[in-house]
Amino acid sequence: MLVSTDGIVLKQHKIANNRRMITVFTRNYGKISAGTSINEKSKSKSALALRPFTYSEYDIFKSRNSFSINNASVRRSYYSIGEDLDRFLIASKLLEYLDKILEEGQPQPKFFDMTIEFFDAITEAKSNFETLLYAFIVKTLRVQGIMPELECCIDCGKEVRDFGYMTDNGRKAYSFSVSSGGVICEDCAEKEKTSGNSLIFKPQFDIISMILYFTEQPLARFGKVTLKPEVSDQVKKIIGEYIDRYMGVDVLLNDIQWR
Ligand SMILES: [Zn+2]
Repeated sequence: MLVSTDGIVLKQHKIANNRRMITVFTRNYGKISAGTSINEKSKSKSALALRPFTYSEYDIFKSRNSFSINNASVRRSYYSIGEDLDRFLIASKLLEYLDKILEEGQPQPKFFDMTIEFFDAITEAKSNFETLLYAFIVKTLRVQGIMPELECCIDCGKEVRDFGYMTDNGRKAYSFSVSSGGVICEDCAEKEKTSGNSLIFKPQFDIISMILYFTEQPLARFGKVTLKPEVSDQVKKIIGEYIDRYMGVDVLLNDIQWR
């Protein structure tokens, strides 16, 4: 059966007989692995559509167990992502994240549209690329069924208005337990710490507002949101540990190339 769908290349590798296996995040079929004989070096319109950071339409031959890309044409090329190292590293992290969380053959149209939105936003942004990545990841947590608890202590149920601490600049903040999966009161944090197997952060910012802001604001806005370096580092660590623990995805922890 010949089908047509929009898609984004997540990764590719060479296989035998001059063919390549391409992992594509498609709008209609979710993540698929498809073989193709299209020559990557050629300047044909199909070859251009198989490059990274390209939003394309693919003509795919779908048999019972496999997909094969026959033709492709570019809808939008985000070539500028490849021209700036920081932008490239962050956008590559996004592709790695998607490849890890998407299940083969399960359509995720909402994530697909968010990915296009992310490419648009990172192309527009002058800096703050990492904020875009954090926002994207946090926006996926609810759909993945692992949204952290933010309304009361994850361990005892005490409401957030009844606990918390003051940051150095006088704002109210909350400890966050990666091990339990949400904000945690001081008493429960102490108990968790003595139990030994805990991973608790005490950030110098309000993590509840931060996560809700990431969840609610449109992605495009985050290209203009500059986090202080120390805040960005903490956000990266907390989200990184969180998605590693609940999804086994270490994209934010597995290198120190970028902040
Ligand atoms: Zn508690």
